Amino acid sequence: MQMPEYSGAKKEVLKKIFEQRSITRAELSSLLGLSVLTVSKAVTALIEDGIIMEGEIMESSGGRRPTCLSIDPSYAKIIAIDIGSHSFKIGVVALDGTVMEHRTILNTNMVPPAPTLAQEKIEALIQGYIDQYSKEKILGIGIGVSGIIDYINQVVVFAPNISGLDPHIVDRLKERFELPVMLDSSARCMALAEKTFGSSQQLSNFMFVSIGYGVGAALVVNSQLLMGTQGFSGELGHLKVSDDDILCTCGNKGCLELYITIPMIVQKVVEELSSMNVFSLLKQSPEQLKQLDITDIVQAYRNGDKTVIRVIQDVASKLGLALSLAVNLINPQRIVIGGGLSKVFPEIVTEAERYVLRNSLTPCVQDLSITLPSFEDESSVVGSATQFIVQAFQ
Ligand SMILES: [Zn+2]
Repeated sequence: MQMPEYSGAKKEVLKKIFEQRSITRAELSSLLGLSVLTVSKAVTALIEDGIIMEGEIMESSGGRRPTCLSIDPSYAKIIAIDIGSHSFKIGVVALDGTVMEHRTILNTNMVPPAPTLAQEKIEALIQGYIDQYSKEKILGIGIGVSGIIDYINQVVVFAPNISGLDPHIVDRLKERFELPVMLDSSARCMALAEKTFGSSQQLSNFMFVSIGYGVGAALVVNSQLLMGTQGFSGELGHLKVSDDDILCTCGNKGCLELYITIPMIVQKVVEELSSMNVFSLLKQSPEQLKQLDITDIVQAYRNGDKTVIRVIQDVASKLGLALSLAVNLINPQRIVIGGGLSKVFPEIVTEAERYVLRNSLTPCVQDLSITLPSFEDESSVVGSATQFIVQAFQ
């Protein structure tokens, strides 16, 4: 389906209802500087179209509040997918940002050296959602990918951690389902969700950083998502933060992504613990070291394991270094740090924050906050869908 092309008062009223979530006719009239009559006419037409709805909210005193207007979530849906290196998330999001359903599916075909994305599974799930919600109600398919995206040509340029992904997934899905498809990096999608539905709604300048199996970032500058000349903005993971001679997948050395990801942290802790002179609560046996995972490391950190604390402080300071460079350059009000690593190990965010506060220019950090995302697991699915939602209310 396509959104109707509104103009004049109807367009303004619809946009304001979307921005405010819930608003009365009188408030619309006052905020838009339009007469109550003009607003009422526009509202009546939009209700008839089924795109907005009204509902009464009782005041706590028991008195009646004027009728509030909001976007009708049943009007249209977006199928949203976020593709990462180990799993993909897929779901259905309503036009008002409500997540109707979502699920996380591990990338199957777990053949060494890496799991492979089962693209046919994604397509089967999309078909299922189209059958369930009816094609006439689907605005499009929004995709976020943990990688470098050519936004202009809607192609995946570089996603070395996701084997099996068709770089031309947009064309492929368009052809198969005959629906509009939009693609961007996961980080930019999540930044858009923070800006549209999250606690960063009122902020003009902020950064969204995702740390997990890779590093992604997106910048909102003057209330706009910064795309860059070719659409490659936000490559925080490939900032050089060390003189180490370790080669990155991008071809350079010492990139942030070589330190602050789940596999790299596990590898670094195992390396440290394998050396003879180090004492650690985790160093019970070589077998135990082989099976070490991030949750063991989090536990050891919380139990005060000095070796683990040292490794974590070192990798967090590398994240802090990259962030402090960005802070001095764009002077954001907030840095939101999401992704699987920040979720299981929020202390890394705290350690990185300490570094940023100590090493950035003082005026740049006086109002800076570093926080976790507004959404939990749903963040990336909402983000992928928000590409369509923002466009619908422009
Ligand atoms: Zn790199």
